[in-house]
Amino acid sequence: MADATLGFDTLQIHAGASPDPATGARQTPIYQSTAFVFRDADHAASLFNLSEVGFIYSRLTNPTVAVLQDRVAALEGGAGAVGCSSGHAAQIMALFPLMGPGRNVVVSTRLYGGTVTQMTQTIKRFGWSAKFVDFDDLAAIEAAIDDDTRAVFCESIANPGGYITDLRAVADVADRAGLPLIVDNTSATPWLCRPIEHGATLVVHSTTKYLTGNGTVTGGVIVDSGRFDWSASDKFPSLSAPEPAYHGLKFHETFGPLAFTFHGIAIGLRDLGMTMNPQAAHYTLMGIETLSLRMERHVSNAVKVAKWLEADHRVDYVTYAGLESSPYYDRIAKVCPRGAGALFTFAVKGGYEACMKLIDAVEIFSHVANLGDTRSLIIHSASTTHRQLDENQQRAAGADPEVVRVSIGIEDADDLIADLDQALDKATRQAG
Ligand SMILES: *Cc1c(COP(=O)(O)O)cnc(C)c1O
Repeated sequence: MADATLGFDTLQIHAGASPDPATGARQTPIYQSTAFVFRDADHAASLFNLSEVGFIYSRLTNPTVAVLQDRVAALEGGAGAVGCSSGHAAQIMALFPLMGPGRNVVVSTRLYGGTVTQMTQTIKRFGWSAKFVDFDDLAAIEAAIDDDTRAVFCESIANPGGYITDLRAVADVADRAGLPLIVDNTSATPWLCRPIEHGATLVVHSTTKYLTGNGTVTGGVIVDSGRFDWSASDKFPSLSAPEPAYHGLKFHETFGPLAFTFHGIAIGLRDLGMTMNPQAAHYTLMGIETLSLRMERHVSNAVKVAKWLEADHRVDYVTYAGLESSPYYDRIAKVCPRGAGALFTFAVKGGYEACMKLIDAVEIFSHVANLGDTRSLIIHSASTTHRQLDENQQRAAGADPEVVRVSIGIEDADDLIADLDQALDKATRQAG
């Protein structure tokens, strides 16, 4: 069903799915089964040998998860995809075949707070490291790349300020260095941005956010463009050199554009076990069916709310790239022509104290550490999601102490504006 000529709205409903062969069920069933019966002993042996593709055990593959993988791959224009237990799992799983002790990844300073912590602290335990660079400075990215660099990593629409990354320019830098570019496309979704068309090698998602869209389950996906030549250098032996666990099989030589996907399942999920469960895949598939409709409303609401905030005397500035005042406005047409997403920050006059009061005063906005829900969400990033960072890192990330971050939902824009209006009143009212 992943016919490249079909439109996005058709693919988001049909890609990867066909009526259930056993029952005719039209909606994709939740295959809540740990294991799958082999036809015979030969069938089992060839599945384990990777000479035939099929279902063995749900840590590796599951029919419900497989539909989701195919659907997201189709929407992103990739060759294949691997489902994972969360967005963070997808990020580790994307780096795992590329990295090794002593290797590094060059990453943008503007990232989801949890990703900054993952990259600064946790990956050190594997002997990996990350070099943080302002991705608006292409020369700095180039200068940060050294002989031990194995990947370049950024977000398309970057947390928390909603900045737009010039993906093509960054991809060109990665290309010149012979490195894969990994793009976290969570905040944009493939409806707003398709990073592979801008030169990305791998796309990662937290499906927890817009793809599921209703704040119910955590999940992640890695999509492989299938375009990177893993054998062009000796930098990626997991994919290009003989794999001892499969009698010397070479993933790239054997599976071509599906090398990364097969490695992700046969080695990554097999040994790291960060597997998506079929229930989560089901909720996410349901969410994706309406992705374009929701994103359209998310964007139009975000534009209305951001414009209103920008014109309000109680607000210092708004970071939304969809505003003509944004330094990133010119990149929208190039990177995400359908809009700049629905995530941005704004600075409240009165600074940190006023931000805290505003968050306690909102009624429709929910105060949660999440984004991409149908509901509008608000959080003070510096004291929560970006709390593990020092103030310089917070400012570099766009999580300045005097801003709040909003994820604009699909409610009536007028109600959202009225809620912010009354909350700003309480937040900025002089004491006494
Ligand atoms: C939420 C999020 C993540 C992490 O995803 P989880 O599903 O929470 O593990 C990574 N990147 C971005 C941009 C996110 O918004």
